Amino acid sequence: RFITLEGGDGAGKTTQAELLTAWLEERGRTVVRTREPGGTDLGVRIREIVLHERGHVAPRAEALLYAADRAHHVETLVRPAIARGDVVLQDRYIDSSVAYQGVARGLGAEQIRSLSEWAADGLAPDLTILLDLDVAVGRARVAAARGDTFDRLESEAEAFHETVRQAFLDMAAAEPRRFLVVDAGASAPEVQRAIRSAVGPLVGI
Ligand code: C5P
Ligand code: MG
Repeated sequence: RFITLEGGDGAGKTTQAELLTAWLEERGRTVVRTREPGGTDLGVRIREIVLHERGHVAPRAEALLYAADRAHHVETLVRPAIARGDVVLQDRYIDSSVAYQGVARGLGAEQIRSLSEWAADGLAPDLTILLDLDVAVGRARVAAARGDTFDRLESEAEAFHETVRQAFLDMAAAEPRRFLVVDAGASAPEVQRAIRSAVGPLVGI
């Protein structure tokens, strides 16, 4: 099974993935927790470029770097794990590229989706959990938690992040069977409860 977590920064994807992993492992499932960008050794180097490059990165170059990360990650890590029967729980996937590069950067949702699907050789998630959160709340959470995690995206204007949020909601509305939209403004245990009730049936719990 292939489950992806999507949403803006500060929505709680990492926390929820940790809680869900613990729950699945207690029930005997083997979970591969991973993320994009940066789920492989090659991906870690790509992540360093896309998030910490000091100068301007051309938006098309940025989109292709995410696609390169994804192509390598899907082929070498995600597909083999799915083939073994593991549950793959992934922080960000194609929907993030569509929201950030396609819509917010203005490269075109359709083009970025088709580039991403080509990179992933057509691998689609069984379930996508969208953690939807007010942009100002998300930014406040990120600021409060900031250690060495500052990245280029954090300096984008509020409108950029609002556009991203709406893009995710539009995708969820277009594919209601793939998406579970959760109000990430609720408490972490409440969010986790909603997630478990969707994931359980998918993995036979
Ligand atoms: O969620 P994570 O901390 O891994 O995301 C790293 C950064 O990359 C965030 O600022 C996120 O908004 C950005 N990102 C992006 N396009 C993607 C994936 C992530 O701009 N396709
Ligand atoms: Mg994160």
